[in-house]
Amino acid sequence: MVTNQERHAPGPLYFDNAAATALAPEVLVRMVAHLQGVDANPSSTAHWLGQRAAAVVGAARAEIAAEFGCESDEVIFTSGATEANNLALQGVARAHVDQGRHLIVSAIEHQSVLACCAALERDGFEITRLPPNRAGWIEPETVRQAVRTDTLLISIQHINNETGVMQPIDEMAALASEVGMLLHVDAAQSAGKFAIDLEKTPIDLLALSAHKFHGPKGIGCLIVRNRRQLRLQPLMYGGGQEFGLRPGTLPTHQIIGLSRALTLAARRRETDLAWVAQLKRQFLEQLAAHLTYRVHGDPARSSPYIVNLSIDGIGSDALINQLAPDLAIASGSACASGTVEPSAVLRTMGVEGDALNGAVRVSFSRYQTVDEVSAAVNSIVAAVQRMRALTSTAMQTTTPQSPRRSS
Ligand code: PMP
Repeated sequence: MVTNQERHAPGPLYFDNAAATALAPEVLVRMVAHLQGVDANPSSTAHWLGQRAAAVVGAARAEIAAEFGCESDEVIFTSGATEANNLALQGVARAHVDQGRHLIVSAIEHQSVLACCAALERDGFEITRLPPNRAGWIEPETVRQAVRTDTLLISIQHINNETGVMQPIDEMAALASEVGMLLHVDAAQSAGKFAIDLEKTPIDLLALSAHKFHGPKGIGCLIVRNRRQLRLQPLMYGGGQEFGLRPGTLPTHQIIGLSRALTLAARRRETDLAWVAQLKRQFLEQLAAHLTYRVHGDPARSSPYIVNLSIDGIGSDALINQLAPDLAIASGSACASGTVEPSAVLRTMGVEGDALNGAVRVSFSRYQTVDEVSAAVNSIVAAVQRMRALTSTAMQTTTPQSPRRSS
């Protein structure tokens, strides 16, 4: 088997899979095979090559729909979850402005939801942002209390990208149905990895990105249940592709990549889940043998793909810098990196002080090995020892010395 490291070699060990995963070899083969032939425009159905491309897109759409238990024509291809989240929120809000101007979101959504809400707010919409409890999840009762007669949509992510905490999405869906509200779910961190059956769980809008489950970057989709009935205003205007909801020439090879990665993830789901759960356990146990740390978010509700923790007395930026040659991990979410602001997600969960400033995210993938996990732990332990040694040397040199006697 090609290990995670060989996929990312050369370079440090890669433990930032919540930001992006390696392309699965099975997916790469299919994408390359497609790109080697004539790659006609799937909208050019006047000729056979265009019809063949349209059939490829149709098959991919059906494959994705089968995985989620929805209709093929409810799958709208986008550039990823960011665009899908924007299409869902802005699309619903702007198309239903005659019915209300209020949206409910969790305060721990990804920036693609929160920044979109801020833009809607500037356009006169009202947003209620619900804080999580200390364990990192939104209690359905807080959603119920926030619902108003002019509420248009509730948006709750499935799995938080920083903590890995899973939101009670089945209860949210039941609640949204009960109160007659639309529910949007950002499933970027769960799609492929966890089963989502829209026949059983009534979610109206579901967003995902292929590169989170070993598909290519730059492709995802928004699933729009009951698309024919649900009014949605497009973000862009153009050639009428995707039922008029997302114009632009469809990237056939990317769409093949998305559907193959999803089918592969579904086929291997239980094996992958068991494997990453074992790796995460190993990581935490081996780390505990050397260091004291605190895990953020309810471990009982946490995805085995992600762990967020702080090591006693160690700041996240300094640790990540120390680790840089050997190990790639994240502080907060990748999209917010580059800023030195501590995680807003952890802050809303009541994490503060050193624990907040020290939080790092380690995220796993199906391709990682036991040896890579041990090597990651060794790198962290060595980095922390170096940092502590530097701190104690610095303290010794700054300790006032007894005055020297001149001889
Ligand atoms: N939502 C969540 C929860 C995510 O983790 C991400 C990716 N970091 C996104 C949305 C955005 O996905 P993309 O960058 O592929 O559009």
